[in-house]
Amino acid sequence: MPDVVVIGCGISGAATAWELAKAGRSVTLVDQYGPASMASGWTLAGVRQSGRHPAELPLAMEAVKIWQGLDEALEASTGYTQKGNLRIGLTPEDLPALQVIAKEGQAAGLFVEVLSDAQAVRDIAPALSPAIAGATWCPTDGHADPDATVNAYVSAARQLGVETLFGEAVLSLETRNGRICGVRTASRSIPAGGVVLATGIGGNDLLAPFGCALPVDVRNVTVVRTRPLPPLLSQVLSVASACNSDAACAGRQQLDGAFRFTSGIKVWDGLMREERGRPIVAPTVGSLLETLQSFGDIVPAVRDAEIDAYWCGLVDQTPDALPVLDHVPGVEGLVMARGFSGHGFCLGPLTGKIMAALVQGEVSAVDISAFAFSRFSAPAASSSAPVTLHG
Ligand SMILES: Cc1cc2nc3c(=O)[nH]c(=O)nc-3n(C[C@H](O)[C@H](O)[C@H](O)COP(=O)(O)OP(=O)(O)OC[C@H]3O[C@@H](n4cnc5c(N)ncnc54)[C@H](O)[C@@H]3O)c2cc1C
Repeated sequence: MPDVVVIGCGISGAATAWELAKAGRSVTLVDQYGPASMASGWTLAGVRQSGRHPAELPLAMEAVKIWQGLDEALEASTGYTQKGNLRIGLTPEDLPALQVIAKEGQAAGLFVEVLSDAQAVRDIAPALSPAIAGATWCPTDGHADPDATVNAYVSAARQLGVETLFGEAVLSLETRNGRICGVRTASRSIPAGGVVLATGIGGNDLLAPFGCALPVDVRNVTVVRTRPLPPLLSQVLSVASACNSDAACAGRQQLDGAFRFTSGIKVWDGLMREERGRPIVAPTVGSLLETLQSFGDIVPAVRDAEIDAYWCGLVDQTPDALPVLDHVPGVEGLVMARGFSGHGFCLGPLTGKIMAALVQGEVSAVDISAFAFSRFSAPAASSSAPVTLHG
């Protein structure tokens, strides 16, 4: 019998499984598909502190400390590189929002400044179009390879004895006297003393029998990956324009030279199919054209690249665009990391530590009071915070 079953093998679940195994727990890691098959594979994979909500910023800063030593800890390459993030303002009207980002970052002790003319930004990233008004600049942000990262966690976890069960969905949670005692899949029942829900957009079906649900709107983001180009851009870029929401985009050049860039966050039509054991959400022609246009306007050289792949990624947006990192009320031994609202990749390594602590009955080493499940029972929870992808 495993001490803990972790449901979901995105970055949150994989990191949790590894942390638990390091702490000497026996763990089974279950995913209905396989490693990084949903948000943690669809993602842009920016590892960003700047532009975070003040409550989340300390977590992102703590997570970046872990990223800096992660390759060594996992004995594998995550493709992590720390060359900065530029949040671009297209027009002078966008600059006040950038000033707020800089102020909030500085208040938390993060170096982030506003570059208020195009040339200053292009001195850092010469591949950028001159038709911009400025940017925030945070040199300690970065990016990583999402598949490599999740697979590195899985390999390291397996080496420590974690059992993995892929291609098998958890259909229900089992409890006895208000305490979790296992999970059930289509083919087996797995007893466990603790369960971690790291199920991304999924998981409310599992919570329903206990009368609770995480309020999430599922949103859609179009992603394009090109064939490799020569090195042009080492930072992560993003645009969230006050005047033109169609211009929203984010992107980066991977270490292999390919560009990976995204649209802004859109309404999802609910269509998803499965192909070769993976979930697929396809972009419309319109969203693809818009994404190519908006990122091409920011990095003109990308227009010469061949397209290698495109897909849509789904985002689990909560009403306040912050995650829940907490015990599930009323079910002892059940903890949850969900609702990352489009920015949970950077947090992943820290999420693993937090979830491992909670499911073992320990207190998180970082303050997670802002991420309590109970905040959604308050009346203010019904209003929706605007969400943008900043890379
Ligand atoms: C296009 C896009 C761009 C993004 N860009 C960034 C970025 O630049 N920086 C950043 O920090 N974040 C970004 N994000 C967000 C980030 O990728 C996610 O927040 C993060 O990957 C979430 O990881 P997770 O492990 O919590 O969830 P997921 O990766 O979604 O993993 C959940 C897993 O649970 C499994 N699962 C669900 N239900 C069950 C069940 N019943 N039984 C078994 N398995 C189940 C699923 O198959 C899935 O593999 C982006 C997201 C998208 C879509």
